[in-house]
Amino acid sequence: MTFRSCVRCRGATRSEVLERAAGEAGPIAVAVEGMPLLACDKGHRQFLQPDFPRRLLEHLLEEDEGRLPAGEEKGLLLKHYHCGQCGARLTAQADHQATFRFDLALEDAGPFRVALTAPVYRCPACARDQVHSLNEVRKRTPEALTHVFQAAGIPPA
Ligand SMILES: [Zn+2]
Ligand SMILES: [Zn+2]
Repeated sequence: MTFRSCVRCRGATRSEVLERAAGEAGPIAVAVEGMPLLACDKGHRQFLQPDFPRRLLEHLLEEDEGRLPAGEEKGLLLKHYHCGQCGARLTAQADHQATFRFDLALEDAGPFRVALTAPVYRCPACARDQVHSLNEVRKRTPEALTHVFQAAGIPPA
């Protein structure tokens, strides 16, 4: 099997696995673990396909993060948050950070993992742990992912 040549030096590439790279955006952190990619003999890394980062982002936003336990955002000027399960008002201060792990398999790529760390809030009424709102997590995710790829030395496709 031959892979597309290195975008930087035109050298031949082989498949490799990125053990771990992490990035942050505001209060959230994202890490990818075991992500398949291509690397040349000089160690230049690149995505398996040019559209890999877009597909990864879409998967995270539309499928994985949609399953997070989340509260509901209310209020126009002064935002407040309510438990997604029982509707009680959530505190403004996070109780702790929690890490959620998603197993991904993007079509042609082997399985790998994305870990999302975010502040969680425990409902005072029903004790459910949750993020304040999916909106907040989703709007930070693209930036965090960009920092992950920068940390791993993968140029934007
Ligand atoms: Zn190269
Ligand atoms: Zn509740």
